[in-house]
Amino acid sequence: MSEQQPESVARAWREVVDTARRSAADGLVVGTSGNVSARVGDLVLVTPSGVPYDRLGPEDAVGVGLDGHQVLGKLRPTSELPLHLTVYRETDAAAVVHTHAVHATAVSTLVTEVPLVHYAAAILGGPVRTAAYARYGTPELADAMLTALRGRTGCLLANHGTVTHGATLDQAYERTAQLEWLCRLWLTANVVPGLSPSLLSRAQLDEVTEALKGYGQEKG
Ligand SMILES: [Zn+2]
Repeated sequence: MSEQQPESVARAWREVVDTARRSAADGLVVGTSGNVSARVGDLVLVTPSGVPYDRLGPEDAVGVGLDGHQVLGKLRPTSELPLHLTVYRETDAAAVVHTHAVHATAVSTLVTEVPLVHYAAAILGGPVRTAAYARYGTPELADAMLTALRGRTGCLLANHGTVTHGATLDQAYERTAQLEWLCRLWLTANVVPGLSPSLLSRAQLDEVTEALKGYGQEKG
């Protein structure tokens, strides 16, 4: 066990489980195909491998150090642990959400960057890239993800799914939901034979990014 206060660890675990259940309830994952983590100091709480989220209780908390060695719990951490740890080592994120959301995964098989059909891309820091394919659970996939995440808070993983991070689990989850929506929007707009969607320019997106910086401080 780390030096963290047990209460902050217990609360973070509760949020991890709640977020994992929410991702299943909202249809962003099927069964146990996604995974969720949160960082508390040097401890990373992460969903275990292959256990249905509705069966996870307070006593099932799984925690690893930033080097990946397990320091809390008996259940085995998710096989996607390298993705989560790489985000925590390389960014100041405190939460990571990984899903196989169907529209985002479909788009990951089609493009190397999600077309700018909507300014919601600004929520993810700019045009969302697709990380090159590598087998799940490998350091190669974590490296490809890191490249795709540069300057962004989310990316697609080719023929696999999504990764987003944030300062809180709610923020990371919201980014996943927005990314899935954005991919669904592009797919929807792209099905009309003979027509292709008009796209925003980088300048138009940058303008939104600037506007969002002030969002929350004033009505608008
Ligand atoms: Zn996965």
